[in-house]
Amino acid sequence: MTVLPHAPPAPRHAPAAFLRPGQRLAILSALVDEQRGLIDQLQERQRIEHAGRHFWLGRFQGVPVVLTVSRIGKVSASLTAATLIERFAVGAIVFTGVAGALGDGVQVGDVVVAQDFIQHDLDVSPLFARYEVPAYGRARFACDAGLSQALLQAVQHSLAHDFAPARVHQGLIASGDRFVSGQAEVRALRERLQQDGHPALAVEMEGAAVAQVCADHGLPYAAMRTISDRADDSAHRDFAQFVEQVASRYAQAIITRLLDSLGQGPRP
Ligand code: SAH
Repeated sequence: MTVLPHAPPAPRHAPAAFLRPGQRLAILSALVDEQRGLIDQLQERQRIEHAGRHFWLGRFQGVPVVLTVSRIGKVSASLTAATLIERFAVGAIVFTGVAGALGDGVQVGDVVVAQDFIQHDLDVSPLFARYEVPAYGRARFACDAGLSQALLQAVQHSLAHDFAPARVHQGLIASGDRFVSGQAEVRALRERLQQDGHPALAVEMEGAAVAQVCADHGLPYAAMRTISDRADDSAHRDFAQFVEQVASRYAQAIITRLLDSLGQGPRP
């Protein structure tokens, strides 16, 4: 196995605000379907296998990147994120994926850009407050404001030009090791989080884990989730159809716009 510790020589332009010279931007998706299309756009493409995962190195709109699939759930996602940072000289992570709707007015087809994340299934009470991650003294992990702003703008452009009339939301996303797929279950989850002061817009299975790893390493992190289902009784059917037909088109359009804007930044 070959591991490239550094990115190829400095690109024409580089997202200086987020990457130091020699660093790559990681583009992470939870599922292979969500990543389809992105790999095709890579220039100077190279595939490396490590820890049972495929890491695709190259340039995307001139920006040095590594693309990979986090796999499903918090453990898999944190291992993938840590590997990206430790072995692939990653300086920032952007996550694109799908999620179930939780917040009022959040519809299938809308996009949620994460402000912060919480693990809705973490409960060490009564030793710690519910959701609090022991040793961190907090339940929520924030995304990087600047990188999230760039992602938000890319989403807004894409929705306006490519995917009207979907809407974009920004706020809290809840992650847990469970595919939420029941009317009663999603209602209970929404109400519990709201009552506890954590009104989440969407529910998925990886984002909070990646946020915690990025916090440990002081790495900028931004994440967006397209709403694939309502986390209700028909979630499994809606999810499967959405992922197959729509998710990769969103990811491709939004990431292309994001890297276009980052690639036009000043040289490092
Ligand atoms: N069909 C997939 C499994 C998908 S699990 C397979 O066979 O591999 C669902 C994925 O979509 C997770 O990555 C999760 O982050 C996201 N997701 C979408 N809707 C969700 C919901 N209602 N609850 C939890 N996660 C959801």
